[in-house]
This record gives sequence, structure tokens and C-alpha cells, in this order.
Amino acid sequence: MNRISHWIDGKVVEGTSGRTGVVYNPATGEQQSSVDFASVEEIDHVIAVAKAAFPAWRSTNLSRRAEVMFRLRELVDANRKEIASLLSNEHGKVLGDALGEVARGLENIEFACGVPNLLKGGYSEQASTGVDVYNIRQPLGVVAGITPFNFPAMVPMWMFANALACGNTFVLKPSEKDPSASMFIAELLKQAGLPDGTFNVVNGDKVAVDRLLEHPDIQAISFVGSTPIARYIYETGTRNGKRVQALGGAKNHMLVLPDADLDMAADAAVSAAYGSAGERCMAISVVLASESIADQLVDKIKERIPSIKVGPASEPDNEMGPLITGDHRDKVKGYIEGAAGEGATLVVDGTQDAPGGGFFLKPTLIDHAKPGMRCYDDEIFGPVLTVTRVSGYQEGLDLINANEFGNGTAIFTRDGGAARQFEFDVQVGMVGINVPIPVPVSYYSFGGWKSSLFGDTHMYGPEGINFFTRSKVVTKRWPDPRTSSVDLGFPQNR
Ligand code: NAD
Repeated sequence: MNRISHWIDGKVVEGTSGRTGVVYNPATGEQQSSVDFASVEEIDHVIAVAKAAFPAWRSTNLSRRAEVMFRLRELVDANRKEIASLLSNEHGKVLGDALGEVARGLENIEFACGVPNLLKGGYSEQASTGVDVYNIRQPLGVVAGITPFNFPAMVPMWMFANALACGNTFVLKPSEKDPSASMFIAELLKQAGLPDGTFNVVNGDKVAVDRLLEHPDIQAISFVGSTPIARYIYETGTRNGKRVQALGGAKNHMLVLPDADLDMAADAAVSAAYGSAGERCMAISVVLASESIADQLVDKIKERIPSIKVGPASEPDNEMGPLITGDHRDKVKGYIEGAAGEGATLVVDGTQDAPGGGFFLKPTLIDHAKPGMRCYDDEIFGPVLTVTRVSGYQEGLDLINANEFGNGTAIFTRDGGAARQFEFDVQVGMVGINVPIPVPVSYYSFGGWKSSLFGDTHMYGPEGINFFTRSKVVTKRWPDPRTSSVDLGFPQNR
């Protein structure tokens, strides 16, 4: 049995807690590895290692830190296929999708290469006579990243690229379901010239997370996962005095107005709902179809579904892989099986004829879903698309704004005025206009609203730089025989 351990101080370190987790191959349903779960003592040790590495790394000059990021960029680029195959193997996503994940992660390393420019502060000469004022941004210290199963390479890159470039040292606790990509990336960081102890990976469960949340030497926590855990991380971490950004779940709606290009909308809905078996926080899970075109749109979505090739990533033609675990597949199945009883219409039933052996489901389409039904209200996180019929723009907008989540949304229309109004009105953090998965490029920042994000800063991009640094403002003067005199008054702008 393959064993996955920890990466501490520049090398693989076997766990000593005696507790382990199971890593499946979701395409076969069989266990392929066991992963060590860290104890409190092991977490304390890794934090001590990262703390010891901090003074030297924060003193390393900006050009040198950027150089490490440039080298990492080259190494990740050269190892795209290797990383993608680790993702396919443990997560189940097909190779093309896994390569897309690596590419979108790599963007964040490229952004971090610009850190010397990104950390430039403002400077006000002569704020008062002979006095200059400027601000500098400094790293926080040891920071932690806790990541979900669905993007095992990209989400860690969202966090550690900026965190390291800004001069912090890092402890990553990846999802216990697919930890191998993080271990591989740790090796690449070492090859890129990152000093030992600066980036560490600890595998584990709630024991590891809780220790990170309470340890006094962890300065900040960046989290991505489900909403109940995000809320818990935010509340516990902030109570313990840490800076926390905690991104949670989603229920992304796509509003289709009557004037939309319906073929484009159907292609987009199918791609965004079923890609990665719906296990994306930016997946479209609800289509809000304007009543006058709803029948047509549902027909167009339905006719596209049979040609989607479902199966293991090992067959290059496949477009959709399995779900992450048998338990999760069964949970998703429960939503599909319950939909008709709730009053919705099961148009395409993905529980039928799914490939055997692994945790597979086929794409499901449910029509006439409504608020109050579980299939509408809950984040299903599987290949299930529901359609809700709305009278038009206003009813669609009201449904989106009433939703608990506010991660992503999209509007499909040819009407620029309606699209602009939507962008103005909608209470969601990331908006697509005829774009179904509007994940911002790395030089913007990623984050939802409402129960999709707890904290004040979005992830990566400029807000990521702010999250992983704190600003210091210096007010400076030098002795000048022309201005120097004794003055006991409060300093004023003169
Ligand atoms: P999850 O919340 O179960 O796990 C995320 C991390 O938290 C993992 O590292 C896990 O080990 C840890 N964890 C789990 N239970 C814990 C507990 N009780 N106490 C402490 N730590 C715990 O999420 P997941 O199932 O791995 O990922 C899927 C979820 O992540 C979905 O809800 C999805 O929408 C969300 N997600 C959100 C975004 C976003 O950007 N908003 C991106 C990707 C995924």
C-alpha cells in the first residue's frame, strides 16, 4: 500500500500518530494509498520549523524571492502532465480538466513573480516641512492554508504563491482525500531554491486543523472548503486573534433572458454544470429560464447530455470522471432520487447506466425546481443541473439575491442594458456576462459574498497580497539645522 506522509523542513517525514486516512482511486472505487494524519505534537513541530525559517526568508531580498517564483513557474510548467495525472488519479477529474486546473494555478505563481512591484508602497515627500511619510508592507510570519478536495493543485497555489513571495513561511494542510499533488509541489518548491522549512505540508483531519487554529505562532489562515467548516474556521481563528479568510460553498445561478443565444446558453450550462462532475465551487447548478424560452432551453440542454462521455480519466476521450468518494456519490444520488417526490421533474436521470466499478454518476437534469425543495436549496456538488422557471429578469434576480450563497452567477442575454443592470444589482462576488464560470484571472481577486466567504479579503491577486502582509506607515524626519527646535506641542502638518 502506498503511504503518503508529511513534508517538513525540506523532506518527507513519516507520521508518528498511528492515525491514517484512506485515499481512493475514485475511478475504481478501491483504496490506493493511506495518508498519515498529524497529531497535535506533529503540528507543533511543523509550526516550530516554519517559525525558525521565517527570519531568514523575510530577510531574503525581493529579487531573490521573485527568482524562486520564476524557477517554480518553469518547473510547474515542465511538470504539467505529471501534476495533472496525480490529480486525475486521486480526484478522478479527466486529464484535460486537470491540465486546466494546473494552468489556472500557474497563473498565480506568475502573478507572484511580480512581487517586487506588488510590494511597492506609497511615499509622500514633504508631508510636513522636512517630514516624509511612506508605507511599507511586511510579511506576517507563519501562515497556514487549509484546502478542499476539488482543486488539489490550484487552490494551494492561490494561497502559497503570494504568501511565500511576500516573505511568509507556510504550512499547508491539504484535503486528506487527494494530498499527493501538494507533496509533489513541495518537491518542486525545493528544486526552485526555496529554503527548507519555508514551505511545509502536513496531512491530517480535524485534529491538525484545530491545532493550526489555536496555535499562537500561526498568524493567518487561508481556507477554502464547505460553508459550515468555513464558518467554523473563521469564528475559531478570529477568536484566537488570527487573520482569517474562509471561502465556503456555492449555489451558482445562470439567468437566461428570452433574447439570449439559446444554443450558446445550452452549451454553457452543460459545460459549467457537468465539467469536473459538478465538483466545482463555480459550477452552474441552477438555470433560471425565462418562461417564454424555458421549454426550448430545457430541450437543448437535454439533447446535449447523451453525448457526454463519462468514464475514467485513463481513457482520453472521456469528458467527465467519477465523484470523489462512494459516500459523496450516494449523497448526490439521494438528491436525484428525492427530486420527483418534492414536485420537480426528473428530465434526465444520471443514476441510470453509470459506469460500474468507481464512484460514477451520469449527468442529471431536473426541471421545475423551486426554493424549498432540497434539490434547489442545498449545494449538491455533483453533476446535477436544476432548472427553475422565472417570469423574467426581476424574478430571476430576486431568486439569486435571496439565495444564501453568493459565489458566482451568470446572465445570458444580448441586451447590454439588462446585463449592465444585472452587474449593478446582483449580490454575488463574481459575475459572468455570457460567461458561465467567471473565475477571475490571477491579477484580480477571487471571492464570493454572503455565506460563500467569511472575512474581508478575497483570495489571490491584489487582495491576496494584502492578506499576507500588513502595512506599516513611517513618518520620518532628519535633523536639519533650518527646522530643528524644541517643540513640546503635538506634531502638526506645517
Ligand atoms: P470540506 O469543508 O469538507 O474540507 C475542506 C478542508 O477542511 C479539508 O482540508 C478538510 O480536511 C478540512 N475539514 C473538514 N472537516 C473539518 C472539520 N470538522 N474541522 C476542521 N477541518 C475540517 O470541503 P471539501 O468537501 O473538501 O470541498 C468541497 C467544498 O469546498 C464545497 O462546498 C465547495 O463549494 C467548496 N469550495 C469552495 C471554493 C470557493 O472558492 N468558495 C473553492 C473550492 C471548493
